[in-house]
Amino acid sequence: AAPRSIVTLGEIVVEIMADEPGNGFREPIGLRGPFASGAPAIFIDQVAKLGHPAGLISCVGDDDFGRLNIERLRADGVDVSAIRVHPEHVTGSAFVRYRADGERDFVFNIKNSACGQTRITAEGDALLDRCGHFHVMGSSMFSFRLIDEAKTALGKVKRNGGTVSFDPNVRKEMLGIPEMRAALEMMLQYCDVFLPSGPELMLLTEAKNEADAIREILGLGVSAIVVKRGSGGASYHDRDGDLHVPALPVREIDPTGAGDCFGATFVTCRLQGMPPAECLRYAAASGALAVTRRGPMEGTAGFADLDALIASS
Ligand code: ATP
Ligand code: MG
Repeated sequence: AAPRSIVTLGEIVVEIMADEPGNGFREPIGLRGPFASGAPAIFIDQVAKLGHPAGLISCVGDDDFGRLNIERLRADGVDVSAIRVHPEHVTGSAFVRYRADGERDFVFNIKNSACGQTRITAEGDALLDRCGHFHVMGSSMFSFRLIDEAKTALGKVKRNGGTVSFDPNVRKEMLGIPEMRAALEMMLQYCDVFLPSGPELMLLTEAKNEADAIREILGLGVSAIVVKRGSGGASYHDRDGDLHVPALPVREIDPTGAGDCFGATFVTCRLQGMPPAECLRYAAASGALAVTRRGPMEGTAGFADLDALIASS
């Protein structure tokens, strides 16, 4: 039988990036784009590049930004049947500029774009019937509607015996809204694999240090925690112990998308039955490869590329 697919639900956007680092967008500057983007879209593109069945539930406008994304995902092997094309709303966008200190300034159009109209259609339901693993991106919990759709989707996948992963990918604004924080806490309760970036490990816990946070989260029934630490590599924690993988030595061109590629590769390898150390090794290669390419989704890669990077490091 064909392996059951990996599915996620959330925003598709185009990213348009400033040519030069600096602060914000208050004067005319050189821009580059549109690039295919959106954290769940990058994640699912990376799954498909590994040859695993993959599908995305989302919504774009009837415009070129939407077509660019759908065609890109389709070409890379993603099932795009559950991506609605909305007749009135416009495809989401994110303008990004790096500051000298490495932080980023954004102008987002997500909540009020077609993304906000994401619904589980009949095609989405069919996709979830074939799904063995559902991934939740915290960045997609930007409206109550999206939270509801994600809850419905993960409930269905769980009932079918599937597993769930959760990357908090938190935007600071969201934590101030009690219902959003509650949704993120709920996702932590439901997930089998938790994929925080360094500081996000403690965010949804009472713990005062990392060791306590790990104990607390494993105590909720989460089977594996993988903490992403940028150029510091990543660490894996389960009931049997801890593993660490260093970052591969690459030249960082654009860090956007590294965490999404890392998570997608980890989850895919795990679903394919690889032991944790091997999942971690491929995930680290996937994150490293992502940062060597300019553009959020330009660094997704197949197993052959990951094997080549590992062999040359
Ligand atoms: P984002 O949400 O911005 O995409 P993240 O915080 O979720 O990122 P990171 O920790 O930045 O995720 O990156 C994920 C993984 O990718 C790291 O754990 C590491 O293995 C790899 N990685 C990231 N940056 C680098 C780098 N500069 N060099 C090598 N590997 C890197
Ligand atoms: Mg992240």
